Amino acid sequence: ATPETLLEINNIEVIYNHVILVLKGVSLSVPKGGITALLGGNGAGKSTTLKSISGLLRSERGDITKGSISYRGQRLTGENPADQVSKGLIQVMEGRHCFEHLTVEENLLTGSYTRTQGRAAIAADLEMVYDYFPRLKERRKSQAGYTSGGEQQMVAIGRAMMARPEMILLDEPSMGLAPQLVEQIFTIVKRLNEEQGVTFLLAEQNTNVALRFAHTGYILENGRVVMEGTAKDLRENPDVKEFYLGMS
Ligand code: ATP
Repeated sequence: ATPETLLEINNIEVIYNHVILVLKGVSLSVPKGGITALLGGNGAGKSTTLKSISGLLRSERGDITKGSISYRGQRLTGENPADQVSKGLIQVMEGRHCFEHLTVEENLLTGSYTRTQGRAAIAADLEMVYDYFPRLKERRKSQAGYTSGGEQQMVAIGRAMMARPEMILLDEPSMGLAPQLVEQIFTIVKRLNEEQGVTFLLAEQNTNVALRFAHTGYILENGRVVMEGTAKDLRENPDVKEFYLGMS
């Protein structure tokens, strides 16, 4: 049986500042419980696609001028990121964006702000996050601004997990991290997917690592989807090998 579609994007166009056409008809579908990779080079439109879903586009003067997005079969109006979070859909932005002056633990706790479950549930979620990121437990009293890039990426993902999302939009988790850390982060993403059932749509320039961990992928070029398929098919595709996987 084909898995249920959680998120569906149908032929969207996105324009910034009323003039710059950045997405030129992007369609994609994200199966529930999967890891879907959104690949492509610098400026291809990956971040814009994620922001169109999460509602963050508005604050950057971007508009969806054509097409539609639906989540759990319902059309997203996309006006407000907080609304999306309450529906179970959360974006982890590129560049990590910690609150630098708060401790690691305080950063994580900001992720639970929409919840009404009370202290015990929040404490349990914090333990769940520390279970996936033991390093964050060690660093919980440290000011986030003084932690490493890898730790800040962990904080960003951990904070998103505190909202108990059904789906995480993860923008460029590998950015600026050493290969070993990239591997660690992706391994944890895979565990969150398998053990917590979180659906991921992740934007990555690192095609190699993304296609090892994702189930399916889309390749964007210049605001259009130019290829899509299972991760395995994409890994073995001669064009993908030549243009996106280098010699590896
Ligand atoms: P990157 O990995 O560099 O973020 P990307 O594939 O995520 O690449 P986007 O960030 O979506 O690409 O950018 C797509 C295009 O839109 C680029 O040409 C970029 O310059 C432009 N763009 C992005 N944000 C804005 C904005 N706020 N205003 C105007 N143009 C923008």
